[in-house]
Amino acid sequence: MEIFKEIEPLRAFLKEKRMAGISIGLVPTMGALHKGHLSLIDSSKAENDLTVATIYVNPTQFNNVEDLDKYPRTQEADIKLLEQNRCDILFMPPNSEMYAQNRDFGIDFGLLDKVLEGKFRPGHFSGVAIVVSKLFNIVMPDKAYFGQKDYQQFKIIDRLKDELKFSVTLRSLPIIREESGLAMSSRNQRLTETDQKKALLLYKSLKLAKSKILEGHDFPSLHQQIEKQFKDEPNVKLEYFELVHKDTLQPYRKSDGVENGILLVAAFINEIRLIDNMFLVDE
Ligand code: AMP
Repeated sequence: MEIFKEIEPLRAFLKEKRMAGISIGLVPTMGALHKGHLSLIDSSKAENDLTVATIYVNPTQFNNVEDLDKYPRTQEADIKLLEQNRCDILFMPPNSEMYAQNRDFGIDFGLLDKVLEGKFRPGHFSGVAIVVSKLFNIVMPDKAYFGQKDYQQFKIIDRLKDELKFSVTLRSLPIIREESGLAMSSRNQRLTETDQKKALLLYKSLKLAKSKILEGHDFPSLHQQIEKQFKDEPNVKLEYFELVHKDTLQPYRKSDGVENGILLVAAFINEIRLIDNMFLVDE
C-alpha cells in the first residue's frame, strides 16, 4: 500500500492511473477502523481496479471540541488493517493540507440538514460536505463508498453530488454489527463493557419499534415507551428517536408506505454519542 500525505503527489499518481484506464474507488473514513470500514474497502476492491482509502479526522464537522479531541486515533493499527485487506492507496493528510484559510465557508442543505443529526450538531453536515467535496476533487473517483450507518450523511452527499455535478457513482452499504447487534463504530472503542451493554438499547429500541410498527402500532405511543426505556437506564441519554420518510427525512406518515420508512436514533452513553438506524422493510 502506498501512503500519501500531500495532495499534489497523490493527484499526479492518480492522473497517470486514470489515463491508463484504471478505475478508482474512494473510501473516506476518519480512521479507528473496524469491520464496517473494511466492508467498504472490500466492495470498492470488488468494483474498481484501484482503491483509495482516506483517513482524516475533519475538524469542521465536529461541533464539540471535546468530541474532536477524544475521537479515537489508531494510525498504526489502521495502516496494518488496510494492508491486510489489500487496500492500494491511503491518503492521510494533515489539517494544513486540507484547509488553506479560515474555516468560515459553509454549505446549506435546506430541510435535509435541519433535522435529526443536523438539528443536534449544527454545522456538522456543512463540514462533511466540504471535506467530501475536497476528497472528490482530489481523488476524482469513479465510485465512492459510504455506510448506511450514517444514513443522513449519505443523503447529504447524494444531494451534494446532484447540486455540484460530481461525476461519481455513490454506493451505500449495509450496517455491520457486532454479534450483539450493536452497530460497529469507532466511538465504541471508548465504551467500557458495561457501556457496551447499555449501548445495545439503541439497536433493541429500533428492532422493537420496527416490529410494532409493522404490526400496525402508532409511532407516538411507541416513542413514549422507548423514551421511558432510555430514561430508566442510568447514564444513558436519548437525543432523538424518529421515524421519517427515507428520502425527505421528514416525519413518516402511514400513507408513505412502510417501504419508505426509516427509524433513526442518537443517544449518549455517558458522554459518548452513538447513532444507529433501521429501515422498516429491508432494502
Ligand atoms: P467514519 O470513519 O465513522 O467517518 O466512517 C467512514 C465510513 O464508514 C462512513 O461512510 C460510515 O458510514 C461507514 N461506517 C461506519 N460504521 C459502519 C458500520 N458499522 N457499518 C458499515 N459502514 C460503517
